[in-house]
Amino acid sequence: MRVTVLGRHGPFPTAGGACSGYLVEAAGIHLLLDCGAGILGRLASYVTPEKLTGLMLSHLHSDHISDLFVLRYALEVAHIHDRRHDPLPLWVPPEPKEEFERLSYRDVFSIQVPSVGRPIHFGPLTATPFAVQHSIPTFGWRITDGSRTLVYSADTEYCEDLVSWAHEADLFLCEATFTQIRLTQGGRNHLTAEQAGQIARAAGVKRLLLTHLSPVENIGTVLAEARREFPEAQLAEEEQTYLL
Ligand SMILES: [Zn+2]
Repeated sequence: MRVTVLGRHGPFPTAGGACSGYLVEAAGIHLLLDCGAGILGRLASYVTPEKLTGLMLSHLHSDHISDLFVLRYALEVAHIHDRRHDPLPLWVPPEPKEEFERLSYRDVFSIQVPSVGRPIHFGPLTATPFAVQHSIPTFGWRITDGSRTLVYSADTEYCEDLVSWAHEADLFLCEATFTQIRLTQGGRNHLTAEQAGQIARAAGVKRLLLTHLSPVENIGTVLAEARREFPEAQLAEEEQTYLL
């Protein structure tokens, strides 16, 4: 299994950067986790959009979904040109309702609501959604090929369940939006880098990549705070592929 970081920023990108999007691949399967601002052009460097096997949107905030509204044109054109015939399976929380209702477009998506703990099978990969704690319904994902496991936290504040869902992951892609000072200033709905490190350590993960990096934070401070709890923590690097 391999994971490519297409974008690592939230809630908006830095110069030249992109928001959340992660391509997970194994044995001809191409899954996209989130579809935020700026990832679609990068995706095309790895796989043409019509070759996607499935798309999971962790939640319906724009920094995770905005490129979906362009992806739908790529899929529509693929249908017209006979390069794809099936709708793209899309798993997405059903709320907020007004955002959910904007997703459907000319049968290019087959929209489904994930059930917590119910695995979805794609060839050798099994993807299981789990609920995290954000301002709107949000799902993280645990994806395994039977021997190696990727866990994606999505956007969340500290929640105990995340420790068990991340248990012994080979790669834990965890959001680290805040530095510690933001919590004391009342920051909610996201993790600090230090909390990401705490969760990684408690879960016994093998590798921690910090993502959903905020342009208003110093990423050197983000990394240093995570390393207080998990010394091997790294920043997720855009357009880098990680082998599991
Ligand atoms: Zn976000």
